[in-house]
Amino acid sequence: MNKRAEAGGMEQRLNQMLSKLKKHDFRLTPQRLAVLKVLAVSEGPPTVERIYETVRAEYPTTSIATIYKTVNLLKQLNEVLELGFPDGSNRYDGNKPYPHPHVICTECQTVIDPTLDGLKDLTQEVIKETGFHIHNHRVDFFGICRDCQSRSA
Ligand SMILES: [Zn+2]
Repeated sequence: MNKRAEAGGMEQRLNQMLSKLKKHDFRLTPQRLAVLKVLAVSEGPPTVERIYETVRAEYPTTSIATIYKTVNLLKQLNEVLELGFPDGSNRYDGNKPYPHPHVICTECQTVIDPTLDGLKDLTQEVIKETGFHIHNHRVDFFGICRDCQSRSA
């Protein structure tokens, strides 16, 4: 995907989040808008601390409670996907809020969203095997990224 398409995607995500929040009478302060902007970017999903640092650079009086509140509301509205980590440093993906696989580097904590066509087949297989109505899934791969591989080589 080229840079222009990425930027367009971010704006689209931002607008989707904004219209959803408007329906819920959410008072949109500049700080909260800044949180949405961080979440709408397609780069590796940030932690709350990371969002806090980014927003505080522009709005130094922002409290971490504001970040948590905004992220939690978006989570309730299915506008961000929470990615739990065993060490508690959860990441929040606002760019792709629907279930999708992640590939996570256990060295540097980089998170990548690969496009995997095989996942549709896998879901079908699960339905066939279990008879479940599947409404969600979690598929995460853990390993060592290329950068970390070459660093240790
Ligand atoms: Zn890495």
